[in-house]
Amino acid sequence: MSIEIIRCLSDNYAYLVHDAATDETTLIDAPEAAPILTVLKNRGWTLTHVFLTHHHWDHVEGLAAILAAAPAQVWGNGADAGRLPALDHAFAPGDTLPGGAVVLDAPGHTLGHVAFHYPALKALFSADSLMTHGCGRLFEGTADQMFDTIARFAALPDDTRLYSGHDYAKANLDFAARYAPDTDALATRQAELPVLARTGAPTTGTTLGSEKRINPYLRCALPQVATAAGVPGADPRTVLAEIRKQKDNA
Ligand SMILES: [Zn+2]
Repeated sequence: MSIEIIRCLSDNYAYLVHDAATDETTLIDAPEAAPILTVLKNRGWTLTHVFLTHHHWDHVEGLAAILAAAPAQVWGNGADAGRLPALDHAFAPGDTLPGGAVVLDAPGHTLGHVAFHYPALKALFSADSLMTHGCGRLFEGTADQMFDTIARFAALPDDTRLYSGHDYAKANLDFAARYAPDTDALATRQAELPVLARTGAPTTGTTLGSEKRINPYLRCALPQVATAAGVPGADPRTVLAEIRKQKDNA
């Protein structure tokens, strides 16, 4: 199985997961048709499934045009079916989908947000929940819900790669630097990101292990992070809420 990372719109990522054994290809989120259809054509892959993470327009806007050119079965969270495009299959957190993806409940950014974990691929498609060096804005859910979402991800193996819905890595890293990250890990990433930017290479696909050294939302239980957030001694949930609030106002 292989993963193709596709840049869409101004800063979105979509993903194709291709299984050479079954010849099935799954699209994760549909921000924009043209770049996705181009990759399918160039690879000679036939789209079989579309998995949606959440209802926001920049994750579903390209779906109709994609389906018109490449008909496929659309899967989404049954609990959010009223706000998602028409689904062929509704799933619930805990379900295992074609290709081996396990649906993880991931509320916080939106209430019906889900993530897709492929244990065999060591890949977690987290969209706008946990992101590269940061996490998504709390549009609908609470900081407590985002805390539980991130705790669910943190329990996965450290070599799991995190594939998020946007390229916010640079802004998120600049912000993360305020919250006592591991200095070696920070320096490595500060050196890497400009190189990736020059070549247009994706910034997504860091490991959970490396995120645990940098991403403040995975480090809320550390005393130095609570202190850096201005709430020394606070419990981890309060620390996460405070950091997210500071990001909203940054
Ligand atoms: Zn979103």
